[in-house]
Amino acid sequence: MIFKLLVFGLVIFVVYTFFFKVNRGTVEQPKRKEKKKKIDGDTMVECTKCSVFISETEAIIKDGKFFCSKECAGLK
Ligand SMILES: [Zn+2]
Repeated sequence: MIFKLLVFGLVIFVVYTFFFKVNRGTVEQPKRKEKKKKIDGDTMVECTKCSVFISETEAIIKDGKFFCSKECAGLK
């Protein structure tokens, strides 16, 4: 009877530790990647031609260079 209780207790202990480990694993694994919103509007870039600073979102990118306007980029 005591032996049965010991085995039963051991089984519970093993199951408990197993689930505890599993739970810890599942909690630690999916680290929520906090979406850091890039504030593109705050990034200032310099116009390659006239050296005017404009926000990256408004800039015209041509050949990997930033331009403040289509005129500077030579698109017009
Ligand atoms: Zn320019």
